[in-house]
Amino acid sequence: MIYDCDVIQDLLPIYVDDAISESSRKLVDEHINECEECRELLEMIKVEHKKEAGVKRQYETHVKNYAKRMQRRKRIIIASLVALFCVGIIGASVITYFAVSDPFDYLAIDLGTYEEAEEFIEQGKIPAIMPKTAEHISFIYQLKHNKKNGKFHVTAKDARKMKEELEPATVDHLRASGEALDGIYNQVKSTLEDSPEGVTYYQDTDFVYAFITDGTVYYFGK
Ligand SMILES: [Zn+2]
Repeated sequence: MIYDCDVIQDLLPIYVDDAISESSRKLVDEHINECEECRELLEMIKVEHKKEAGVKRQYETHVKNYAKRMQRRKRIIIASLVALFCVGIIGASVITYFAVSDPFDYLAIDLGTYEEAEEFIEQGKIPAIMPKTAEHISFIYQLKHNKKNGKFHVTAKDARKMKEELEPATVDHLRASGEALDGIYNQVKSTLEDSPEGVTYYQDTDFVYAFITDGTVYYFGK
């Protein structure tokens, strides 16, 4: 035996790894042919090496799959963000549209007492002819076009007084007045335009009034 077993055994790992020089390989081959101990050790190292390679392959496959999954996840996240962004833009546009567009740009207020109404009477949003005893006052006012309509409730005595101060009108005056500002008032207006029994119509320069028999007075801006 030309070489010591220790020297050969030191070389075995790089021999299995195929990282050994041609001349060293020759030496190992020669030695192994004659030394059973080193041959057995070589076989063991080869088996271990194979196992390690298997684990390494598994690991690499795992890493590859993980990378693929992450890639897919990334695409989904980006797509979701894009979708969310679009929805946000559309949502904001819709909200902006409703906030700035005409028919929605109005103020609707329910008032309990005449005192609360005074400020709006001064602003011309509620007719000044409304008596101080009026109740259930509510009005709707469109900021942009200065359109207004509303209603309040008066006693029979106050209704008579109001009528004396107003100019008599007909249902045609109501029909000629501006469109009401929301669905409910529009419904009321179209009902009143059919001149139901007991309803009387009056007007002044700004409003057409419809007096209902139960004491409710509806007014619509001209
Ligand atoms: Zn040996």
